[in-house]
Amino acid sequence: MNLNRKDDCIFCSIAQGISPCAEVYSDDLVMAFLDIAPVQKGHTLVIPKAHYNDIFEVPPELGAALIRAQKAVGSAILEATKAEGLNIYMNNLAAAGQVVFHAHWHLIPRFSHDTLRLWPQHAYSNADEMLELASNIRKRFA
Ligand code: 5GP
Ligand code: ZN
Repeated sequence: MNLNRKDDCIFCSIAQGISPCAEVYSDDLVMAFLDIAPVQKGHTLVIPKAHYNDIFEVPPELGAALIRAQKAVGSAILEATKAEGLNIYMNNLAAAGQVVFHAHWHLIPRFSHDTLRLWPQHAYSNADEMLELASNIRKRFA
């Protein structure tokens, strides 16, 4: 299959079988392998085999294959690690913590008594601020 590939991209190199990885899943469009520096053991990355920098470049047509793989790999991680939960998340653009600019989803096994904490949450100043921001975002679809 002729996949969109970027020469200096480590995940393209893994997807093409040039660089090694601890693979856990592969199909025509998607693959998954263990993260080299796991948040928890079993932390897995799901990637499209073709190169897209981030979510904004991933074609919607790939969505079904990506979600199918995330569900299947997520279930397999839960069984293999005996985890009780699973976080799926994605960093997009440097300010959000993206380091490898080939779109990827993190699958992180969770246990009810692990020490991981989600990021801190804050309040809006008032209801108007919240509604105005929703309106500002919503009008981009008009
Ligand atoms: P990001 O911050 O871009 O969302 O996450 C990139 C992830 O890729 C990091 O969690 C990092 O540990 C992982 N990673 C970077 N290079 C490699 C590699 O060569 N092999 C594997 N298996 N994981 C990698
Ligand atoms: Zn790539």
